[in-house]
Amino acid sequence: MQEGIHPNYGKAVVRCACGASFETGSTKQALHVEICSQCHPFFTGKQKLVDSGGRVDKFKKKYGLK
Ligand SMILES: [Zn+2]
Repeated sequence: MQEGIHPNYGKAVVRCACGASFETGSTKQALHVEICSQCHPFFTGKQKLVDSGGRVDKFKKKYGLK
């Protein structure tokens, strides 16, 4: 292996626009991303689903469930 042509691959701190940060492996020491697993539409969509849980409560009330 030649020296000097391989960038150092180490830990990098990835910081997302939503404020979340996590560690990953990268040749860079710090990364900035616009979207991450914390704020990806798939996950925020899931969150919405949780937020609309009021419907479930209504349903439960209607049928006398707790
Ligand atoms: Zn994010």
